[in-house]
Amino acid sequence: LPEAFLQAIPVLEHIEKHQHKAYFVGGCVRDYLLKRPIGDIDIATSASPSFIQKIFPKVIPVGIEHGTVIVRHNHESFEVTTFRIDGDYTDKRHPDSVVFIDNIDKDLERRDFTINALAMDLNGNMIDLFDGIHDIENRVIRTVGNGYERFTEDPLRIIRAIRFSSQLGFTIDPKTLQEMKEVSSEIKTLAIERIANEFSKLFAGNDVNQALNYVRNLQIERYLPVFCDSPQILFSLPVSITPLQSFAEVIALFHLVNPKIEVIRWVKEWKCSNKTKQEALRLVEAYSYFETHGLDRWLIYQLTPSLYKGFIRISENLTQTTVSLHKLEAIEQQLSIRLKEELTIDGYDLMAIFPERKRGRWIQELLNCIEYKVVSGELNNNKKEIKEWIKWNPPETD
Ligand code: ATP
Ligand code: MG
Repeated sequence: LPEAFLQAIPVLEHIEKHQHKAYFVGGCVRDYLLKRPIGDIDIATSASPSFIQKIFPKVIPVGIEHGTVIVRHNHESFEVTTFRIDGDYTDKRHPDSVVFIDNIDKDLERRDFTINALAMDLNGNMIDLFDGIHDIENRVIRTVGNGYERFTEDPLRIIRAIRFSSQLGFTIDPKTLQEMKEVSSEIKTLAIERIANEFSKLFAGNDVNQALNYVRNLQIERYLPVFCDSPQILFSLPVSITPLQSFAEVIALFHLVNPKIEVIRWVKEWKCSNKTKQEALRLVEAYSYFETHGLDRWLIYQLTPSLYKGFIRISENLTQTTVSLHKLEAIEQQLSIRLKEELTIDGYDLMAIFPERKRGRWIQELLNCIEYKVVSGELNNNKKEIKEWIKWNPPETD
């Protein structure tokens, strides 16, 4: 077993010692069979959340109403969920109620796809009630049970099917695909945050182009904010895109190919976080600057290291020339300052140089100008030199 599983074995053993069942379930079992890197380890158990809290010293009740707690063991986190069946999904957001049960069969039955409905015990024995192993071997996504009912119950599964096709490179079973088509209009009842979460993963998958073809063929855009008003934007992307690793990158790319739709609109309608908004704006600004000026210190300074890779992915999608991370990092090394606060001069210094002038916009404008000159290497970040430069280049009056 891979290391990630070995780490979890004591947790399963401890639950079993107390006469309860415990299995690895869901994505980790699927990814193990596919020899893909294992993400989170999810454990399903017959023990109740309160029982788990009793028998482990460190338990975080993250979703106790759904039966999920996190068990901390050896500085690792394991999601432990009590076997359950879901009540109705009347609001299409959360199951109305969950009922804990003591047998794993019905728990596996509530899961979305056969490839996600596998369980594995401590000894590596598989519970495969819906031929999930067969579907993994054939690289097929198929619902557990009647697709029409399962998609109606939770239409997010329609988008999840496409997301998994992107991540895993699997095709969607033709019958499942037909059922997705029949239920697709229900997508409009979903909370946008849930869709955005799946969409981020969809765009990050290696097979994003196949996934986008599913989106186009099912005309999912009809039920998605922004896209529904301008369906052509889904077709305006390059035929083959490189995967994007965050929703900020997705928004930046869509804005750059459809400049009429502002970043702010994407952010509002898709209810993105402020962080996503700031990142998207920065990526757009950096790419626009890049188009006219190419790679230079000012661009790198504006971008900040956490966005280098995103910027490279955006560029890859929009131009033929590839920008190398090495090159960005080499330029970063040349920067004399990394933040505006590192300038050796500030607004008070400027006011002292021109005591006769009133406070005003000129201060900010002059500082911006100095910042640009220092970053681009035209001026040293040295107070004396900067003052000297100002004397020869006095700002205009407001
Ligand atoms: P990833 O590696 O991307 O996290 P995952 O399979 O773990 O993939 P999650 O979204 O983390 O996917 O969900 C964990 C498991 O919970 C799934 O494998 C599936 O069995 C079940 N599941 C999650 N969401 C749903 C849903 N909307 N309907 C039915 N089952 C679901
Ligand atoms: Mg997961």
